[in-house]
Amino acid sequence: MLKKFFGLTFLISLLILGWATLNSRALPKPIESNPLPIEERESEITPVESETHVIVIDPGHGPWVNLDEEPIAPGSEVTKRKYGIGATGIVTGTLEREINLNVSLMLRDLLENDGYIVIMTRTDHETISSNIDRANLANDNNADLMLRIHSDSFKDSGVHGASMLVPGKVGYAIDIVDISRIYGELILNTLTDEVGMKNRGVITRNDQTGFNWSKVPIMTVELGFLSNPDEDRLLSSSEYQTKLAQALYKGIVKCFNEETHSTE
Ligand SMILES: [Zn+2]
Repeated sequence: MLKKFFGLTFLISLLILGWATLNSRALPKPIESNPLPIEERESEITPVESETHVIVIDPGHGPWVNLDEEPIAPGSEVTKRKYGIGATGIVTGTLEREINLNVSLMLRDLLENDGYIVIMTRTDHETISSNIDRANLANDNNADLMLRIHSDSFKDSGVHGASMLVPGKVGYAIDIVDISRIYGELILNTLTDEVGMKNRGVITRNDQTGFNWSKVPIMTVELGFLSNPDEDRLLSSSEYQTKLAQALYKGIVKCFNEETHSTE
């Protein structure tokens, strides 16, 4: 009887011990104090990335033609004119520089209202800077995107539609070729969808001084052809210019909203 009692007590003790062991395993581990020194602990904190994007808008051309030349790319022997006068409307006689500036100023306002920091290469028809100067303005301000705004011209007046020029692997642009194409395509597709014009596609250009000196994502939108009577009339009207600015604004916003998807 006594033997049996001790045997039972032993069994119960074993069961209790087993339960306790199991239970202790299930308990959360005590919180260990951080073994890292303070300086290292602080470096673990990821800085909050600024949501404010810096956009440089470059309304193409300026008040005059200058015959001075500048290197087409860093270290290049090839030179091109610092700036040209731009196209003229075949029917209306509107100057390209005016359309470019009007659309650019409206685009600036839309972006600024949305919290973007906007830097303009020009806000009037008096000031002018060379293509290298314009690229450096964006480089120096570490811009997230530089959009050059132009209108097209061609000897065949039937040609119409918008296109997007993007840099090739030349000069400083080597590092920003891919992202410029992604942004450029997104902005062009949004523009042509919103405004309802022909999409002439994204074109790589190795010969653009403004591209080859750029260290930040850069592209040139050609809003349409001033050599085409219909597009000349449209481009010269303020209603159409407003539509263009709104579509460009939507395109730029898409670049940053969809950034994580497009760059993966
Ligand atoms: Zn132009």
